[in-house]
Amino acid sequence: MLESQVTLSPSRLTLARHLRGQTKVELAAASGISRRSLANYEAGRSLLGQSAAMRLAQVLNVSIEFLMAAEVDPPPAEAISFRSLSRLPARTRDRACALATLASHLSDWLTDKIDLPEADLPDWQYVNPEAAAEGLRAQWGLGVEPCPPLVPLLEAHGVRVFSLARLANQWVGLDGLSFWHGTTPIVLIDTAMPTSRLRMSLAHELGHLVLHKAHGLADRRVTEHEAAKFASAFLLPSNSLTTCGVRTYNVEAIVQLKAVWGASVAALARRLYEIKMLSEWNYRQVFIQLSILGWRKGEPEDTERPLPSEASVLLRKVFTTLRTDGTTRPAVAKALHLEMDDLDALLVGLVPTTVAPVATP
Ligand SMILES: [Zn+2]
Repeated sequence: MLESQVTLSPSRLTLARHLRGQTKVELAAASGISRRSLANYEAGRSLLGQSAAMRLAQVLNVSIEFLMAAEVDPPPAEAISFRSLSRLPARTRDRACALATLASHLSDWLTDKIDLPEADLPDWQYVNPEAAAEGLRAQWGLGVEPCPPLVPLLEAHGVRVFSLARLANQWVGLDGLSFWHGTTPIVLIDTAMPTSRLRMSLAHELGHLVLHKAHGLADRRVTEHEAAKFASAFLLPSNSLTTCGVRTYNVEAIVQLKAVWGASVAALARRLYEIKMLSEWNYRQVFIQLSILGWRKGEPEDTERPLPSEASVLLRKVFTTLRTDGTTRPAVAKALHLEMDDLDALLVGLVPTTVAPVATP
């Protein structure tokens, strides 16, 4: 008897393979399906038998419903703000793009269910990054004060923030990424980073969203530099730092500023030097001291004056509302044809319910 055939979405098969970080060769070997057949399935040139479809779903740890749902349109890697695209292994880049795609699906689904803030971000392609940061601070009414927690701030202005922590854990330097999904700005961030670095990375991605919407990220060297400038100016506005009355900065004085501004000592030192609040000699002294302290590779968090949490306010509210209406997180995962673990990967570090379960003895 002929086996019944299954129509799955070729783009979803590719998405699932990328999500699991597998090459076609690896998936062929793991599933026992020939490389040629697999290439044909992914290109949409042939139908799968039911048993082959089930085997692929099992090997990829996705549901058969996931593979059979509507075609997907992942954001191209060129449209995503990877900090070092050329150095990023293809496998990691593809996994990040797959996560970004799932994030856009979750964002669409939530927007459909609940009234969420719309994007309130200017499109300032040709604006100098320093002026753009100042302009956005003014537009958002931040005055001259330090930025409040950035995740809720961005969320309130229509940016959807999701977690990149599980993937970032495997590739140093993949702190965050951002892209425009239609009219919705989306950021994925390594929530496991120290808070001061997390804040700078969020401000960096905000810079990309504001400065590079219209013309993209073609020249990575320029766009990375612009986003870094924006981030520094957004978190550490020069008019606030130059009027705070301090004349000489050493590491101890900058550590005090860290607790106020929520930026690392290294980032603060760079900014103070940039706005001429730190002489070149003093700037070098600060970095020599940071090296002696062993802080160049990572500064300890100030346990006596910890920075406020960068947890999500929006996602917590959304999932609480959904639960009140009888929609649990497993139901959300099911609606999106996702495994719970894949949904949690987008939320880890942002909402408390996704703390890793304690292993049972
Ligand atoms: Zn960047």
